[in-house]
Order: sequence, then C-alpha cells, then structure tokens
Amino acid sequence: NYVFIADGPDGSNLRIYPEQKGSSEKETVTGLLSSKQEVIKKLYDYKKNGYLKLEPVDISPANTMALFILNDNSLCGVSFNPVVFINQLLNSKMQSIAGNEFILAVYKPGTNNIILSTSPVDIREIKQMKSLWLIPQYNLGITLKGETIEELVKARSTRNLILIVGIALLIFAGIWLVFRNIKKEIQLAQIKSDFVSNVSHELRTPLSLISMFAETLEMGRVKTEEKKNEYYSIIHSETSRLSNIVNKVLNFSKMEAGKRTYHFEPVDLNEISDKIFNTYCFHLQNHGFAFNFTPDKEIPKLNLDPDAISEAIVNLIDNAVKYSENTKAINLRIGSENGFVFVEVEDKGIGISESDQKKIFDKFFRVSSGYVHNTKGTGLGLSLVKQIVQAHKGKIKLISSVGKGSCFKLLFPVE
Ligand code: ADP
Repeated sequence: NYVFIADGPDGSNLRIYPEQKGSSEKETVTGLLSSKQEVIKKLYDYKKNGYLKLEPVDISPANTMALFILNDNSLCGVSFNPVVFINQLLNSKMQSIAGNEFILAVYKPGTNNIILSTSPVDIREIKQMKSLWLIPQYNLGITLKGETIEELVKARSTRNLILIVGIALLIFAGIWLVFRNIKKEIQLAQIKSDFVSNVSHELRTPLSLISMFAETLEMGRVKTEEKKNEYYSIIHSETSRLSNIVNKVLNFSKMEAGKRTYHFEPVDLNEISDKIFNTYCFHLQNHGFAFNFTPDKEIPKLNLDPDAISEAIVNLIDNAVKYSENTKAINLRIGSENGFVFVEVEDKGIGISESDQKKIFDKFFRVSSGYVHNTKGTGLGLSLVKQIVQAHKGKIKLISSVGKGSCFKLLFPVE
C-alpha cells in the first residue's frame, strides 16, 4: 500500500511514500510505532549486532506491515495487503515449487478458507503446515498429489524392507557359496591325498610280489619245475595287474585332457565279451568264482571301439571280483532291449547303497566305509566306464542292493 521512513525509533521526520497518501496513514504509522516500541528496539539491537531483520506487525485486519532498519539507522516500514501479496507474488513461486508432486496451499488457520492453492485441495488432507514467515496469521500447508504422506511412507517402508530382505538373502547366499567352496576344496584335498595313497598302494603290492618271486627264482632256491611255473605265472599276472593300473591312470588323464580318441568299427559285442570271458575264466575260477557268460546270437553288429568297450567290461568284472565277499558268482550277459544292445556284469557281492549309487561314477569316488575301505582301488574305474559309454552315446543302468549284489548294464543304441 505504502512505504514509510522515519529517522529514528520514535518516528521523527516521518515520510510516507507515495507522497500523495493522506494524513490518515501518518496517524496509523505514528500509532503503530508507539505501540510496537518493543519490536522496534529489538530490530535496533539486531542491527547493532550486525543483523538486518524484517519484523511483521499487524496494522489492521486487512493489512500487514513489515518493519526493518535501513543501513543509515532510519526505520522503514512497508504496508501491504497479505491476500493480494500472496495471490500476486507467491503464486508463481509456489507453482514452480509444487511441480507435479505436491500441492501447496495458503489458508487462515481455524477456517476452511483457502486463499491460494496450487491445485484444488481439501484443507483436511493437508498434513504438514507452518505459518508464513512475514504473514504469520496465514499458514502454508503441503501435501502430496494423489498419495498421502502415510501412503508414501508405507510404500517406502515396504520397498526398504524388501531391499533389506533381498540384501540379507544375498549375503546368506554369498556365505553359503563361500562355505560350499571351502567344503569342496577340503574334499578335493582329501580326495587327492586318498588317490595318491591308493595308487601308491596298488602299485606297491604287485611290485613287491614281482620282486620277491623274481629274487627267489634268481637265487635258484626253487627246486621243482611245478613251483617255478607257479612263480612265473604269479609274476606274469602281477605284471598285467601293474600295467592295468598304469593304463587306467593314463587313460583317465587322457580323457580328462579331452585327448582320448576312439576308433569305431562294426563289431560283435558277443565276440569282445567272449574274448574277455576266456581270458578271465581260469583266473576267476581259481579264485573260487562261478563265472558264467551268456551270449545273444540275435544282436546286430554295432559301431564300437572294441578296445574301449573291453576296457569298460574288464573294469566292471574287476569291481565285481573286488567287491564280492561271501558269494562269489559273476554273470556276464549280452542281450537287447528297446533298440539297445547291452552287456551286463552281475555279482552277488556287497552291493551299493542308494545314496552311493549316485556318486560311484564320479571320478575318485570310493565308498569310504566297511569292506570297500579295506579293498584297494583308485576310484577311477567307473568314471572311465561312464566316459567310454558316453562316447558311444550309450547309457548305464545300475541295479544294486546292499548285501545282495550289483548289476551294471551298459546299453548301446542300435543305429
Ligand atoms: P575303485 O574300484 O578303484 O574304488 P571305481 O570307480 O571302479 O573305483 O568304483 C567306485 C566305487 O564304487 C568303489 O569304490 C565301490 O565302493 C563301488 N563299487 C563299484 N563296483 C561295485 C560293485 N560291483 N559292488 C559294490 N560296490 C561297487
């Protein structure tokens, strides 16, 4: 409305601008200054301490006065109509602050009378409010557009909770992974040391037998021809046992390096098995085994690598011998079913528990308890069998129960 300037707190040399304003304003200002001496004193105290401050005072129900001190210590005041001020000057500022997310509203506390709002709003929706600095008789309220603060807090809490649970799960998964890797490393170290000791033991036994019998023969201590022949045959069988072990390890390392090559040719599985049967028959029967071979003349010739297949069958027979305890019977059988030709090796030995059946084809795996613990082995035989069968696109079926025996069936597809 108008501005006044006075030279001191008492209102001396009072000038009103614009100058055409009448004496009624001068009267109002004089009355105001004398009634607000305390406020004015406060302003001068601030000024003394280097602060310039605006102090709002009410001058009439409709108008407000902002008092402040100028740099030359003269007292200044600006009279304005708050409603006009809010509508004309605050409007655009409030619009730009509110943007699309908030609603800002100015209203008189205690009434439902909204003077200005950036979007239509009910006063009851306004949750956060504060009185306006220069016009304390009006409140500025804020609320969220579309969403209440409670809803926003709830949404954020839910989001944070999900995030925390997610992070916690991630940490647990990480811990579990680390734990599993450490466990694997420990198992691997254990497997390695077992393997080295198993292989060393497997090599040492035939070597010491060979050296013992060769020495005895060399010293001429064996008198009868019969005994000599027996010692020769022991040396012979121990030598082939040695080369079997070495071959197994070599073949395994070749397979691991992906360097094993197969030479496929049309062969009769009966022939391969018959050869093996004839080689092992005498030896096994000598060791108290009932060893039977049942061929199947109906099966077609298959494209196989005869050496690899022989190796697989021999490994199975080796195991059948090793893991037979009281009933010593082995059946080698050929047959066909559902488009596959099979060779199976059945024993009446110690059998394999269901949980171990899943693991015995893993490299280095050996059942660690009972009878197996006392039988020597490398843990490579069945993993070699598995790889050979896979290279022939075949499959392995195992039927076994503890104490009753096992039957390993190798199936090869008829092309
Ligand atoms: P190795 O015989 O050198 O230990 P394999 O890979 O040939 O290794 O066999 C793995 C494991 O499977 C053996 O340690 C044994 O526990 C079990 N197994 C294999 N064949 C038989 C079988 N015929 N009867 C019982 N257990 C067997």
